[in-house]
Amino acid sequence: MPGLYIVATPIGNLGDLSPRAAHVLANAALIAVEDTRVTAGLLRHIGVKRPMMAYHDHNADRVRPGLIARLGGEAIALVSDAGTPLISDPGYKLVRDARAAGHAVVTIPGPCAAVAALTLAGLPTDRFLFVGFLPSKAGARAESIAEIASVRATLVFYESGPRLAATLAALADGLGDREAAVTREITKKFEEAVTGTLSSLAARYAEAGPPKGEIVLVVAPPGEPEAASAEDADAALAEALTRLP
Ligand code: SAM
Repeated sequence: MPGLYIVATPIGNLGDLSPRAAHVLANAALIAVEDTRVTAGLLRHIGVKRPMMAYHDHNADRVRPGLIARLGGEAIALVSDAGTPLISDPGYKLVRDARAAGHAVVTIPGPCAAVAALTLAGLPTDRFLFVGFLPSKAGARAESIAEIASVRATLVFYESGPRLAATLAALADGLGDREAAVTREITKKFEEAVTGTLSSLAARYAEAGPPKGEIVLVVAPPGEPEAASAEDADAALAEALTRLP
């Protein structure tokens, strides 16, 4: 069927490509990609050869109208280098314009580093805010952190190894010393989740040096009143009993 297919691809382990994603890629007239070399590797893995066109931040405005014009008669897939397109990756304007022109937009969901990190972190998942990358300049970063300090949700950041220790210290300053998890190399050989307070994690990575690989940082919501422990409950009950007539 003609239309725009948003196809999630693995974030490390190629086994995570879904059969439906492979089917759509194998049958697309064209695959719009961030980097042709990266997607060529994925296509080789599934034994597929399809025409590719680069679609990234530097050429998107120029090539988008041509892609939209082809959607009436052709199936075009959009992928990013890894994970779910549009999530800290190009694509939302393509989806917006495809819809506006009346074309079908179909999603093929799959790996996303932010969601995978939430499943590893052991922090509340009922409400979360995906922040993506913080600005790299200290002033702008502190301003962004101040904006989200009162949000009552778990916070999810994308980060790089070289910036990790400074970001953890800035978060401890701006948010208070909350619990956090540094998740790294998800679905790859050296996958790990290191948990601790923001200040302890900042000290750990300042001392050890920048970790290698890709990182998602997950930070607990602002301090909730602790759930009453069994001991607290016993004490409250004993105290209440003393006031009975
Ligand atoms: N669209 C992608 C997704 O769905 O997750 C994210 C693209 S964003 C440009 C790349 C960032 O995602 C990396 O810098 C890192 O923070 C995070 N990331 C991607 N793959 C990862 C992995 N295997 N482990 C940990 N973080 C990862």
